[in-house]
Amino acid sequence: MKPIHPILYLATGNPHKVDEFAQLLAGLPISLESANALGGMPVVDETAKTFEGNALLKAQALYRQAPRGTWVMADDSGLETDALGGGPGVLSARFAGDNASDADNCALLLQQMQATASAERSARFRCVLALLGPNSSKALFFSGACEGTIASKPTGMGGFGYDPLFIPTGYQASFAALAPEIKASISHRAEAIKKFCDWLKHFLNVSTPFPS
Ligand code: IMP
Repeated sequence: MKPIHPILYLATGNPHKVDEFAQLLAGLPISLESANALGGMPVVDETAKTFEGNALLKAQALYRQAPRGTWVMADDSGLETDALGGGPGVLSARFAGDNASDADNCALLLQQMQATASAERSARFRCVLALLGPNSSKALFFSGACEGTIASKPTGMGGFGYDPLFIPTGYQASFAALAPEIKASISHRAEAIKKFCDWLKHFLNVSTPFPS
C-alpha cells in the first residue's frame, strides 16, 4: 500500500514558486499542494513591516482554510538596497504604486539611485518562509539572502521583478541575464528552501516534536 505522506500547502498561486519548491523537496516523503487545491490563495493585505510578518500573515490566511493535520508554508521576499536605507524592502512589489509593473519598479529604483556611486550600490534579495504545522499556531521561520549590487541599467530577458538590475556577488551579469539554473542555485529563495529542507529531513527522520 502507498504510504500516506504529510501534506504541505504552499500559500501561493504562483506556479513558478510551486515548481521551485517541488524541485528542492523532490524525494522527501511529503506531498506538496498549492493554494489552488484549497480554492485559491485568499487575498492578504501585506501590512507587516517585516518579511517575517508578511510571510506569517499569508501562512495564517491559508491555514484557516486548510484541513486539520496539514502544514502550510508561505514566503515573502524583496530587495533591500543600502543606498535607500534598506528600501524598497517589504514594499518591493508596490514600490512605484499599488498596480506598478516590474518595469515601473525598476525605473523608480534606477531614478532614486541615479546619484549613487558604484561603490555604494550594494543590495540583497531576502526571502523568509513561515511554516505553520499541524495543531500549532506557532510558526517556524527559515530565511535566505543573496548579496549583490544594483546595475546602472537593466540587462537580460529572463526572471522577473528586479532581476534585470541585480548583479549577484561573484558574477558579471544580472539575474535576468544568467541561466535560470544559476539563479535557482544561489537565490535568496533557494537558500531559505534549503534550510527548510534540512529541518524537514531532520524532523521526518528523528520525529522531533513540532513546537506547540
Ligand atoms: P513576493 O514575495 O511575491 O511578495 O515578492 C515581492 C517582490 O519582491 C516581487 O514582486 C519582486 O518585485 C521582488 N522580488 C522577490 N524575489 C525576487 C527575485 O527573485 N527576483 C526579482 N525580484 C524579486
